[in-house]
Amino acid sequence: AYTGPSADEILKKRKEFLSPSIFHLYKKPVNIVHGKKQYLFDEDGNRYVDAFGGIATVCCGHCHPDVVKAVTDQTRSLQHSTVLYLNHAIADFAEALASKLPGDLKVVFFTNSGTEANELAMMMARLYTGCHDIISLRNAYHGNASGTMGATAQCNWKFNVVQSGVHHALNPDPYRGIFGADGEKYAEDVKDLIQSGTSGHVAGFISEAIQGVGGIIELAPGYLPAVYDSIRQAGGLCIADEVQSGYARTGSHFWGFESHDVVPDIVTMAKGIGNGVPLGAVVTTPKIAQVLTRRSYFNTFGGNPVCTAAGLAVLRVIERENLQENAHVVGSYLKDRLNSLKVKHEIIGDVRGRGLMLGVELVTDRRLKTPAKNEILQVMEHMKDMGVLVGKGGFHGNVFRITPPLCFSRDDADFVVDVMDVSLTKL
Ligand code: PMP
Repeated sequence: AYTGPSADEILKKRKEFLSPSIFHLYKKPVNIVHGKKQYLFDEDGNRYVDAFGGIATVCCGHCHPDVVKAVTDQTRSLQHSTVLYLNHAIADFAEALASKLPGDLKVVFFTNSGTEANELAMMMARLYTGCHDIISLRNAYHGNASGTMGATAQCNWKFNVVQSGVHHALNPDPYRGIFGADGEKYAEDVKDLIQSGTSGHVAGFISEAIQGVGGIIELAPGYLPAVYDSIRQAGGLCIADEVQSGYARTGSHFWGFESHDVVPDIVTMAKGIGNGVPLGAVVTTPKIAQVLTRRSYFNTFGGNPVCTAAGLAVLRVIERENLQENAHVVGSYLKDRLNSLKVKHEIIGDVRGRGLMLGVELVTDRRLKTPAKNEILQVMEHMKDMGVLVGKGGFHGNVFRITPPLCFSRDDADFVVDVMDVSLTKL
């Protein structure tokens, strides 16, 4: 049994010793002391179905024994900086990761986070093209350092610091966007941006395949191929931010961009790829990778032996346990059930996403699409009390984000939907 500090004691310490900006998701937050597979356990031994942990860190399940073993074995033999000496872990994982990417995408740079990966990707695009202008999508989230905060496009995540050189295109959002699901119309806006906001040449374009923080927005069909064409005509590189949508999560494909039939020039990833250890990566072509040889480039822990040993173990688990197939099968089932819930509950305005990256948008008026900001908080709190943890996102904070570990089962899916049903009925 757990004998550590209580939830209240932890809250008190957080208030006194941590940043005042730190937040938690619930009015009455839970003290999670243990995790196993897709389940979390609080200090009293209560079990929660973790329908959000996939985005936080975990793709093959909490404390997966293979990943734990890889980390502990490697910690026992060596942990060090990546760059000083030779060690097999980084090379083995780079080789395995490159084999998951199409075309000439086979040179890997390791980082410690998604922000770092996107900062590096944007810098490489700028160096390669000799241009500064980058285009990203409104409602995107790409990180919180100065460059990536510039590319992020939701004011609630942007501090008032100088963020030069990023232009934000209309979001091809099928639910709220002005052109509905007509991807090519939004793509015209990017052409316009290039002509009116830049010299006609750009460094690149960055986007998620499904916006995560933005509220599980799937880009309108036809958008990415058209935009990639325009960007390349303007001399730019196309960057796919796969921090959330990559790594088998969308089920139908290993990478989110694959369902849009495009091949990026640079792909970034983080979060689930280490199943909980800090690990990010940028993968690009040998030609583009050359730009970093112009100066010395050093990242103390990016690709360190312990994290890359974990990374390799995660890839093997995804393959051996068929987690991509599971994301597809269970995700499709869960989406169908959520769509049935939409028929029953007027407050559900939209159900969307792919595989185990699903969103449920709550609105108080379906026609006006008025965000149900307060209602979602009540439902979320109630679901937590019944043993289900879901995430929340979207600019208005009115979208449930369901992004569980990829080992989620049909029974878990049923439990999440049943609990959501009860909580919505109680509202
Ligand atoms: N890109 C996307 C799509 C993300 O969702 C996030 C994190 N929410 C990041 C980048 C930044 O990753 P990190 O928090 O690891 O810096």
